[in-house]
Amino acid sequence: MSSNGFRVEHRYLELPDSFYTRVQPSPLKDAKMACFNHKLAQEMGFHVTNEADWAKIGGGTELLEGMDPVAMKYTGHQFGMYNPELGDGRGLLLWETVGPDGRRWDWHLKGAGMTPYSRFGDGRAVLRSTIREYLCSEAMSGLGIPTTRALFMVSARNPVRRESIETAAALVRVAQSHIRFGHFEFAAHHEGPEAVKTLLEHVIALHFPHLIKLAEEERYARWFEEVVERTARLIADWQAVGFCHGVMNSDNMSIIGDTFDYGPFAFLDDFDAGYICNHTDQGGRYAYNRQPQVGFANCQYLANALLPVMDEDTIHNGLQRYEAAYNGRFLQNMRDKLGLVQEDEGDLSLIMDTFSMLNEHHTDYTAFFRALSNVYAHGHAPVRDLFVDRQVADEWLARYEQRLEKETRAHDEREFEMRRVNPKYILRNYLAQQVILEAQNGDYEPMKELIKVLERPYDEQPEHARYAALPPDWGKHINISCSS
Ligand code: AMP
Ligand code: MG
Repeated sequence: MSSNGFRVEHRYLELPDSFYTRVQPSPLKDAKMACFNHKLAQEMGFHVTNEADWAKIGGGTELLEGMDPVAMKYTGHQFGMYNPELGDGRGLLLWETVGPDGRRWDWHLKGAGMTPYSRFGDGRAVLRSTIREYLCSEAMSGLGIPTTRALFMVSARNPVRRESIETAAALVRVAQSHIRFGHFEFAAHHEGPEAVKTLLEHVIALHFPHLIKLAEEERYARWFEEVVERTARLIADWQAVGFCHGVMNSDNMSIIGDTFDYGPFAFLDDFDAGYICNHTDQGGRYAYNRQPQVGFANCQYLANALLPVMDEDTIHNGLQRYEAAYNGRFLQNMRDKLGLVQEDEGDLSLIMDTFSMLNEHHTDYTAFFRALSNVYAHGHAPVRDLFVDRQVADEWLARYEQRLEKETRAHDEREFEMRRVNPKYILRNYLAQQVILEAQNGDYEPMKELIKVLERPYDEQPEHARYAALPPDWGKHINISCSS
C-alpha cells in the first residue's frame, strides 16, 4: 500500500479511559478518493501509490494495522454556555504517527459515523463542508498560520440530511494534537485534580518537551503562559489576514495554538470590522472584531479548569500575558503589512486610521494591502481603483508616502518584503463555492487547482491571476450555516 517511513504510536490511549471510548467507524457506501495531499504525506514520512486503497480507510471499511479508533471526550463553552455533553460526535482518532523528522501526527477521521457523544447528530460530514475544511487548512498552512491539516478526503453515496439532502464525505485531518481547551474543562469539571494533572503532563510530554525538566510549579506556570501566548498570537495572525473563524467555542480551541475546526469560517472580502460569518451567530458573539476578546475569554475558561492544580496568582499572571502577546504580534503584523521598519510614534494611529478608512469605504482588505505592496513598482492606480471616492485614497496615499520618507530601506526591498506578508491569493468564499459546485458534479480538478494556488499565496503566479479577482456580486454574501 505504501512505504511507511513513520513510527506508529497511540499515546492518547495512555490517558485514563474516561477520556475516550473505542468506536469502530461506520462504513460509508462506495467511498471514493476525492483529494489526497501527497506533499503532506511526504512530510509525514510516507508516500501513496494507490489512492483507492486509502479510500477504504476514509470510508471506514478498513483500518491499517495499529489503528485503534477512539472518540475523544471533551466538554466546553459554546456561545458562552457550558455544555458537558460534548466529545467527538462524528470523528475518531485513528492513531498517532511520528515522522522521520520526529514530528508527531494525530490522524482523525471526521465523518466516521455515530459515537457515544453524537447527541442529536448523525455522525456524518457533508461534501460541501469537508471541502471547505480541506481548502482552508491548506490555505492557512500556505499563509504560514498554525493549523490542522488535510491529509485526504473521500466522498460517498450516502445521503445526509441537513437543510436539504446532501452527499456524505469524510476527511482525514491531521495535527500535532487534537487536544482542545475543552479536554481540560472535562477533566476539571467531571474527573477531578488528578485527571487534570495527568492530562497536563501528557500535553507537556508530547508537545512542550522543552518544559519537562522544570520543577512542577514552574513547569505548569510556564506551560500556561505559553498556551495563552500561542492563542493570542494565533488570533493576531487571523486578524492580520482577515480570517473569521465563526465558532470560537472553547471545544474548538487547540491546546497547541492551531487553527482548529473549520466550519462557517470566512476571509473578509470588503473590510467590515463587525463581520459575522456564521449566520446562526445572531448576536455577533464571534464577529471578526470580537475574536481577540473571545480568545481571551477562552483562555479564562481554560484557567478555571486549571484552578484545581495551580495557584490562583500563577494563573492570573499567565492570563495577563494575553494582552501583551496579542498587541505585540498584531502591531508587528500590521507594521509588516505596511512595510514599516523604523519606529515612529504616529504608527499606531496610522494603522487605526487605515482600518477606519477600509471599514468606511468597504475596501477589499486583501487587494488593498497587495496593491500597496507594489505602489512604488506599479504606481497609485491599483490602490486608487479600489475606492469609489478616489480622493480618500489620494489623501491616505499622501500620508503614507510621507511616512515612508522616514524609512531607510530601498523601495524595492520594502515592497519585496511586503509581498511576503500581504497575500495575493486568499480562500474567498466565492472561490470555495465554485469548486464545491464542480465537485458536487464529480469534478475535483478545480479544487485541486485552487489548492495549488493557495499553497503559494504570496507568489505572483500570473497564470492564476483570476483567483485574485474581487468577488462577483453573487459571491459577496454567501450564507454559511453551522450545519456541516
Ligand atoms: P462543531 O460545531 O463542529 O465544533 O461541533 C460541536 C460538537 O457537535 C462536537 O462535539 C461535534 O463532534 C458534534 N457534531 C457536530 N456535527 C455532528 C454530527 N453531524 N453528528 C454528530 N455529532 C456532531
Ligand atoms: Mg468542534
